[in-house]
Amino acid sequence: MLGGTLALAAIWMALAWITLVSTQFVSPEPPRTMTHHALSDSNRAGISVLRGGEQAAAGTATTLRPTVGLTARFEDVPQEHAEAPFSLNLRFSEPVALSGEQLRTDALLALSGYVTAVEPVDNRSDLWNVSVAPDGRSSVRISLNSRSRCGRPGAICTQHSIPLANRPTAIVPGPPLSVEFLEAIEHHSGLDRIPVQFVFSEPLLVRSRTLANLGLQAGAASIDRLRRIDDRQDGWEAVLIPESSDDLVLTVGAAFDCPDDDPGCLELRRLGSSTSLSIPPATIHLTFDDGPEPATTPAILDILARYDARATFFVVGRSVAAFPELIERMVNEGHTLGNHTWKHDDLLQLSADEVIETLWRTQLALGEHATPCFRPPFYRFNAEIVNLAASLGLRMILNTGDTDDWTRPGATAIAANIVAAAEPNAILVLHDGGGDRTQTVQALESALRFLKSRRYAFEPVCQ
Ligand SMILES: [Zn+2]
Repeated sequence: MLGGTLALAAIWMALAWITLVSTQFVSPEPPRTMTHHALSDSNRAGISVLRGGEQAAAGTATTLRPTVGLTARFEDVPQEHAEAPFSLNLRFSEPVALSGEQLRTDALLALSGYVTAVEPVDNRSDLWNVSVAPDGRSSVRISLNSRSRCGRPGAICTQHSIPLANRPTAIVPGPPLSVEFLEAIEHHSGLDRIPVQFVFSEPLLVRSRTLANLGLQAGAASIDRLRRIDDRQDGWEAVLIPESSDDLVLTVGAAFDCPDDDPGCLELRRLGSSTSLSIPPATIHLTFDDGPEPATTPAILDILARYDARATFFVVGRSVAAFPELIERMVNEGHTLGNHTWKHDDLLQLSADEVIETLWRTQLALGEHATPCFRPPFYRFNAEIVNLAASLGLRMILNTGDTDDWTRPGATAIAANIVAAAEPNAILVLHDGGGDRTQTVQALESALRFLKSRRYAFEPVCQ
């Protein structure tokens, strides 16, 4: 009985020894208990870097010890390259049984450059110095190739090979580049979609989604579309949809808040500072004559405030003196005041002294709110009147479009006239005094609602 037990123990020990030997040295089949077995499917086989035992000599595969979890990382990555060769280090989590040449030809992959040499650092097989030559100014991307190249002659690849647990990548940005906007439209008002084109000083190696998400910012607009221009690698077009009547701004800039290992981000950072294009809205100058008038002016001021519109009121001097609270409100709400004579005089009927007197008396009534602008009542003037006004520091402001509101053709007609006369820098004349202006008030509301939806801005003509 005892002899039988000893014999069994001897057989068991012999089997254990054989098992031990077979797992420490290369065997024709991978040990069934090893984790890598699950990865033996060739489709899932990773990089053809082999795991080596601590005594592994580069280029031999006699002491491979298959385990999972080998990782690698790049170190000492340069901040940028200047179109000149550079080097960086590749560190494995443990020694690998490969030669530098095998790493260079079978494992390392460079985009926009070439790996020219791989040398062990201090004869270690876990730390390698990688020399790279850029093939131009673009950012160079170096990665450990995760595709199996086991079929290549010379590559070490046995059933003991296991995938690398990570996919290290290093990106060395190219030298700085710049961006320039091509000529854009002058005003964005009235437009639903605005194409803006810009050109980089050299091809920018990013996907359009990366550029749109991380390299572009729009103000007062959204970016509807981004595409390359005519298959150029450096020219792009962004289509903007205006969202307000503010200045529309497109900024192309470096993406500072994205991950360091994102090649698109690093490529964008070559831009350094940001470059912006600003497209203002078209400005329309609304003017109101013959006020202030308590029956009309407050309603007009309410409408202007509702549409964030500022206007110029050409006021009659004696009304300024009569309704100072209306003048204060105009000024407080951002409007400006022009001179429309003391009592709406026909200047052609006055002597030179009387012209001076009616204009100057009104300037004095306006006091600190006076501006250097006047408008002759009935639009009646001649060269002498213009010169007399100029001697008082006043320049004449007429209009570019007529609304005919003083003829009271109906609010709809007046509103249509306002819209028809609206164009960039138009000066439109309306009336808040001199009679019943109910139609003007109604017309102003609907015209401003429409023009505001077309993103026009309304600013005073006189400051
Ligand atoms: Zn007038």
